Amino acid sequence: MSEKAREALPDDPLADTSQLLSHEVPPGVDRRNFLIRSAVGGAAAVLTGCSVPDSERAAKAAATVPPAKAAEASAPALSADLDVVKKGAGPVLTTVDEFYKVGPGPSSSHTIGPMRITYDFYQRATKLPADQLAKATKLQVNLFGSLSATGKGHGTERAALAGLVGKEPATVDPKFLDAMKDNPDQVFPVKLGDKSINVSLKDIIYDATKGDFKHPNTMTVKLLAGNDVLLEQEYYSVGGGFIEWKGYTPPKKNTPKYPFRTMKELRAHADDNKTTIAKIMMANEMSIAGRSEAEVNAFLDKIINAMTATVKSGLAMPEDDVLPGPIKLHSKAATVYKRAMDDKFQADRGIGVLSAFALAASEENGRGHLVITAPTGGSAGVMPALVYALMEVRKVDRQKVRDGMLAAAAVGYLCKHHATLSAAEGGCQAEIGVASSMAAALTATAYDAPSTVVENAAESALEHHLGMTCDPVAGYVQVPCIERCAFGAVKAWTAYAIASNEIASRHRVNFDETVLALAQTAKEMNSKYKETSEAGLAQSVVLC
Ligand code: SF4
Repeated sequence: MSEKAREALPDDPLADTSQLLSHEVPPGVDRRNFLIRSAVGGAAAVLTGCSVPDSERAAKAAATVPPAKAAEASAPALSADLDVVKKGAGPVLTTVDEFYKVGPGPSSSHTIGPMRITYDFYQRATKLPADQLAKATKLQVNLFGSLSATGKGHGTERAALAGLVGKEPATVDPKFLDAMKDNPDQVFPVKLGDKSINVSLKDIIYDATKGDFKHPNTMTVKLLAGNDVLLEQEYYSVGGGFIEWKGYTPPKKNTPKYPFRTMKELRAHADDNKTTIAKIMMANEMSIAGRSEAEVNAFLDKIINAMTATVKSGLAMPEDDVLPGPIKLHSKAATVYKRAMDDKFQADRGIGVLSAFALAASEENGRGHLVITAPTGGSAGVMPALVYALMEVRKVDRQKVRDGMLAAAAVGYLCKHHATLSAAEGGCQAEIGVASSMAAALTATAYDAPSTVVENAAESALEHHLGMTCDPVAGYVQVPCIERCAFGAVKAWTAYAIASNEIASRHRVNFDETVLALAQTAKEMNSKYKETSEAGLAQSVVLC
């Protein structure tokens, strides 16, 4: 371990995330193999009582490692230019209206992000001088990396086309997207100044899946005059519906009242001011975005209401409904709910109906209906299940649920700030894992738990999703995604149950350490398991 890391780790585990690993990996040696051998060497030293110096153990481990051979198995490194990479050093500046986004399923990075991207390009194109627009003949979108590999199953081409014709995720009617599916040759006129250009799904091109991209979810959008490019922009859908582009600079924001980079710092603000994490978050929302408390609450209410609505509409679907796509997956939310309600054991009833709520919202996502990113579309069943259970079953006061939404947002912000919310970068741990962690913080806060318990619950839920891969069958956000939302919801409740019943001060792992593990695991995970549908269930499940 470097001196820098030694100084940083005891008090501030997130101070230097570049120094996550125990040893420098020798050049020409496969990192994973080296670490396994190094760890095995360390464990052996403990078991035998034989103290081997760190440097000697590293050298021995290196000697047993075969040369690196699988460069192609590693995900391309994220470009240091991306804001999503740079921002980890400063205070958290995300706000709830950026984080909780309403849009069509099934994937925030593959539907909401691309739709925002092409809508952004459409806005830029309208600002070109009239003489240039007069020459325009064609609009073209090229999808790369994971967007190309699994975009078909996510409806990325329809989302990208909808943005080009001026539709926004929060207001687009899902029926508009469904109609494109039913009539793929449909042509839409796009008005650019006096010019009208026809676009169709043929203008959305599934391009290279592998290459030296700045981000796994890269796409370009062009306005052409014959073969001449009038306007071109490279974009990145960086997870949770967030987007960046080449040359992106984040919008200027006000300084937060209580700046924090870690859960430790956030909790210190709450404890020093004898208040809650939710109150600190509300003060920051107001100072960063320049909004009143009433305005922040109004936004939270909109999201809470949208979450309960997705559960209700999912539960109301016919029991024999079949989700779109080649899997021909039958929806099960309504059946699970009905049968669970008849269960003679109260605890089983509770687990069954909570699962049904998550299945309901997640199936809505699978249908491409409107969902809420919390933090993503694939994980859009988790938070709504807990919100619905708290609001509609437990009848918890709305203000407590609003507070819970703020604490949950803090958890999501920290994971985004130091790790990732994108399955293309970190697998499913970054989606369902973060969602479950957020939902645990929501539940603990709604039940007035102290800040230690809120942190412990969030930590526990995240910890027990570490390493979870993303392998959607046939590229559709259905298997394992829909049931996985149910497990994420139940684990969130379990995490709250443990955290609120254990002796909080004895909880061994803190949230920042687990976020660090999330970042490290994301970095080391084989790229096949990062939303490519090339491995895991996507490979083992055979569709007939
Ligand atoms: S496996 Fe997880 S991360 Fe991957 S698409 Fe499904 S829900 Fe999202």
